[in-house]
Amino acid sequence: MNEERNKFLTEKVLGKCWHEKKDDYSASCFKCNKLLHGFWYATPQNTSIFNISSDEFIDFDSWQGFGVLWPVVIKKEWWPEFMVVQSTAREICGLSVIQFLTIFINPPVFATAVYEFFLHRKEVT
Ligand SMILES: [Zn+2]
Repeated sequence: MNEERNKFLTEKVLGKCWHEKKDDYSASCFKCNKLLHGFWYATPQNTSIFNISSDEFIDFDSWQGFGVLWPVVIKKEWWPEFMVVQSTAREICGLSVIQFLTIFINPPVFATAVYEFFLHRKEVT
């Protein structure tokens, strides 16, 4: 799971809270006060990752996450720009719109493409 990407998509694209605790003893998110379940665990890379619970975090590598992200993204005003950038970057030509869209009906491919689209942009609208 790509935590940095998922956090970005949750906050900047969906406009939702990426819940975080202040410490091991907190029961709720310090940003939105949502009561969180689960526990803290540490990895060598990150000592403050909150245990992922599907009802509190969206995993955009899953079909469930795709089902949340796709309908939001295709209604954004930057969707046409996203498609132009993708078709240029992938050097795709001669494909129908349906064939082109089919490339993105894949949870990790779509989530990463949206994330990388914003990495090359100045701001999120
Ligand atoms: Zn929160």
